Amino acid sequence: MLLCPVRDCQQPLVRESRRLVCEREHSFDMARSGYVNLLQPQDKKSKDPGDSAAAVAARRRLHDLGVTAPLLSSISSLLELTNEDVVLDAGCGDGFYLGNLNKESACQAHGVDISIPAIDAAARRYPSCEWIVANADRSLPYADRSFTVVTSITARMNSSEFRRVLREDGRLLVAIPAPEDLIELRGAGRERVERTIEAFAVDFEVISTSRASASADLDAASVEDVLLAIYRPMQSQAAVASKVTFSFDLILMRPRSAIIK
Ligand SMILES: [Zn+2]
Repeated sequence: MLLCPVRDCQQPLVRESRRLVCEREHSFDMARSGYVNLLQPQDKKSKDPGDSAAAVAARRRLHDLGVTAPLLSSISSLLELTNEDVVLDAGCGDGFYLGNLNKESACQAHGVDISIPAIDAAARRYPSCEWIVANADRSLPYADRSFTVVTSITARMNSSEFRRVLREDGRLLVAIPAPEDLIELRGAGRERVERTIEAFAVDFEVISTSRASASADLDAASVEDVLLAIYRPMQSQAAVASKVTFSFDLILMRPRSAIIK
């Protein structure tokens, strides 16, 4: 289901032991940790696009503390995945959500992110999923109607590409930070549900909206990790221990042309 990312090629990629190759002999080696980098020169604005290694490591430490487990649980309950599902997580970061959904449901799991440090971390921890480095903002390197579920969890959104790679009876889950997400550290955020639904309205209709929240008493080092993860490291004073709220708005959608049975 992977397509060659070379401009004007887009032929199917076939797996040959440690590489992917298209019929025009464009070839992409598998990294030692198991991911494949399909990023093309025109896909990146900087030398090292996407999340930095420091931000990825900080986010993973927070996941490992268990502070985001309730958010994972809410997403899992909403999707009710089975081993029949084929899931794409677009902007998957270090793979926490997709990797755990795969473990719980035995779904086929595919993660794409533009950050090499993020995908490398994902591939090392969750080897039973397929991990790809690509620019999901531009185009997704997958054939039409490849997936039963696409997730975008606090990631960039590409409505037309999500629609293209989803099956007609597929579902799209978009998770965005709720207004009280990290409120203790950055104040109340904006309400984003309405405008997000509008951004997808051409291609998708809403099945449900819900909110998932968790709070944790974090020590100073973990508060610093939160700030690193959102690129707001402490400038002048040291981070201090704090209760921190994590909160997502979850929007579940289906393709607009879906035939409802
Ligand atoms: Zn090719």
